[in-house]
Amino acid sequence: MIHLELPHQDIRDAVRSLCEEFPPEYFRKIDEERGYPAQFVDALTQAGWMAALIPQEYGGSGLGLTEASVIMEEINRAGGNSGACHGQMYNMGTLLRHGSAAQKERYLPQIASGALRLQSMAVTEPTTGTDTTKIKTTAVRKGDRYVVNGQKVWISRVQHSDLMILLARTTPLAEVTKKSEGMSIFIVDLREAIGKGLAVQPILNMVNHETNELFFENLEIPVENLIGEEGKGFKYILDGLNAERTLIAAECIGDGYWFIDKVTNYVNERVVFGRPIGQNQGVQFPIAKAFVNIEAANLMRYQACALFDANQPCGAQANMAKMLAADASWEAANACLQFHGGFGFAAEYDVERKFRETRLYQVAPISTNMILSYVAEHVLGLPRSY
Ligand SMILES: Cc1cc2nc3c(=O)[nH]c(=O)nc-3n(C[C@H](O)[C@H](O)[C@H](O)COP(=O)(O)OP(=O)(O)OC[C@H]3O[C@@H](n4cnc5c(N)ncnc54)[C@H](O)[C@@H]3O)c2cc1C
Repeated sequence: MIHLELPHQDIRDAVRSLCEEFPPEYFRKIDEERGYPAQFVDALTQAGWMAALIPQEYGGSGLGLTEASVIMEEINRAGGNSGACHGQMYNMGTLLRHGSAAQKERYLPQIASGALRLQSMAVTEPTTGTDTTKIKTTAVRKGDRYVVNGQKVWISRVQHSDLMILLARTTPLAEVTKKSEGMSIFIVDLREAIGKGLAVQPILNMVNHETNELFFENLEIPVENLIGEEGKGFKYILDGLNAERTLIAAECIGDGYWFIDKVTNYVNERVVFGRPIGQNQGVQFPIAKAFVNIEAANLMRYQACALFDANQPCGAQANMAKMLAADASWEAANACLQFHGGFGFAAEYDVERKFRETRLYQVAPISTNMILSYVAEHVLGLPRSY
């Protein structure tokens, strides 16, 4: 393993020791079965890690996004996949920052104890994709309820969550002055909703990631489940999205270290033409370059975390961290696969699984192109391109 001094060693040691009970073989088997690592997520919950961001007064540990990101990083670094459980971490920001006292009282202690899971966030729609302000799912107020109609796609962990944060239009696009206005966020109790206005259709995909199409037909949500003010949901959900991007940056860093450890060990041991393949510069340099890029991305990840935790604007840093880390982990994944030769393709080495898992982050939760567009427009002041 690479020996680097990294912050939060105490958290790292504790998460590593938990992860030792769930080695790569465990995740490989789950991947082969297209299952869900329920045992692993339960163990994380019981150990309190899934309540890291919940304030102590509600039964959590009151840690920041920085510490949460270390937890996620260590899971991926150990050969696991945080994608099964990172939702609760990034959704928490939205509830903590914009939820009412009554909502926090109602949900947080139960989430902290593990009685409730808040693992899902429903934003993406099939016909509008990244163009979020054009979403067509509507929530219309009728007395003490909102009635939801529409469709979402790629909504993850719905089958392993009790609660979901939903973004829907409450004022038609044509009636708002700014297109980012008129959308609202709600807490959907999935236990009540599924089969009573919400239908869930799983999507088989390249990664073993539990994700779904959702169909809403007159789903009724009590008005007390509206988070914050009606019409301001897009602004609120950006907090969740920035947390998500930062956490995923950390997961990519964890993946990157895993690939570097794996390939370094392999090229030191694999002897071809009478010497370890790692003695060839053509093998060393791509590995070293990927490592350098992981280290650089890691600095941006900590910067994004620090700004988020200080309640400062962090959109640029969260986006840049996500892009740099996703690129670095993908570069490390390529080197790792390449220098394992044919063995990289064998499931028992775990390289092909981790390769598929880290590839996702070039596209989700936001594609590299959209990050570059964000930086061009919002950081460099260039004209909006779309
Ligand atoms: C496994 C998985 C899990 C997911 N989980 C969730 C979830 O839990 N909740 C949720 O809400 N969403 C989720 N998503 C959705 C994810 O956030 C979207 O797939 C992603 O944001 C891209 O949106 P899209 O697929 O609609 O692509 P599109 O918006 O159709 O874009 C396709 C591609 O076109 C390019 N592109 C589009 N517009 C531009 C432009 N203006 N300039 C340059 N290039 C452009 C980009 O390269 C982009 O990758 C998940 C997706 C996957 C695959």
